[in-house]
Amino acid sequence: MYNNNRNETFDHAFNDNSTASLQEICLCNKDFNVHSTLDDMVSLRRLCMSNSYIDDLSIIAHLTHLEEVILNDNEIDDLTPLAHLTRLKKLHLNGNQIDDLTPLASLTQLGELRLSANQIDDLSPIAGLLNLKGLCVCNNLIDDITPLAGLINLEKLCICFQQIEDISPLTELINLRDLHLEDNQIESLSPLSGMKDLRLLDMVNNRIHDISPLFGLSKLKYLDLSDNMVKNEQAVELSAYNPDCEIYNVKFDYSCC
Ligand SMILES: [Zn+2]
Ligand SMILES: [Zn+2]
Repeated sequence: MYNNNRNETFDHAFNDNSTASLQEICLCNKDFNVHSTLDDMVSLRRLCMSNSYIDDLSIIAHLTHLEEVILNDNEIDDLTPLAHLTRLKKLHLNGNQIDDLTPLASLTQLGELRLSANQIDDLSPIAGLLNLKGLCVCNNLIDDITPLAGLINLEKLCICFQQIEDISPLTELINLRDLHLEDNQIESLSPLSGMKDLRLLDMVNNRIHDISPLFGLSKLKYLDLSDNMVKNEQAVELSAYNPDCEIYNVKFDYSCC
């Protein structure tokens, strides 16, 4: 069957004189098998293959020069083939079927890791990835974030849509700038009181009563407290301390009908 995309991909790959010297390629949104094209691309540093029906990562296990890999929206459940790609700095695996992060423990150069919408319930394999600056593990099965406690270089962290009650493991993560904790069971913001660089805090749909731990965070520019139990008086008090901060405190009323 004729397919325009197919010709574009192959032209792009093979017009480059040698596929062996190619450093980056996009193979996203392909509904056919392009995986054999990767066999010779041993110099690849950047590869994206999102939404491409990939279920077996052994097709990239030999590409040891890879620094950036984007594989969102595939059918990946086993990360073992990534364990030796130790040059990886950026890895996106949103929307797959991953439940075990153990193979990532050796990828200590990783600076950015995105794993939203998988089946992960244990973060301990990534506890030693100390170069991480950005981490998203939204929409998984996580109730314990203790393994994040030592990731002191994190600047952006996203752990929305889980069952998290206790955020005290975040206390030492004082380099955080963007923190997304929407849709959890969090009651206390005290662990955030030392995060002097925090710019953005999304706390929508939690169990917060008291925002006084945020009063010293002078760099805070955006705060969403909607669907919590924070009194408007206290939100007004916070904006008096920090007039530059955009504060949302919308109460959703489910009893209207
Ligand atoms: Zn792409
Ligand atoms: Zn996220």
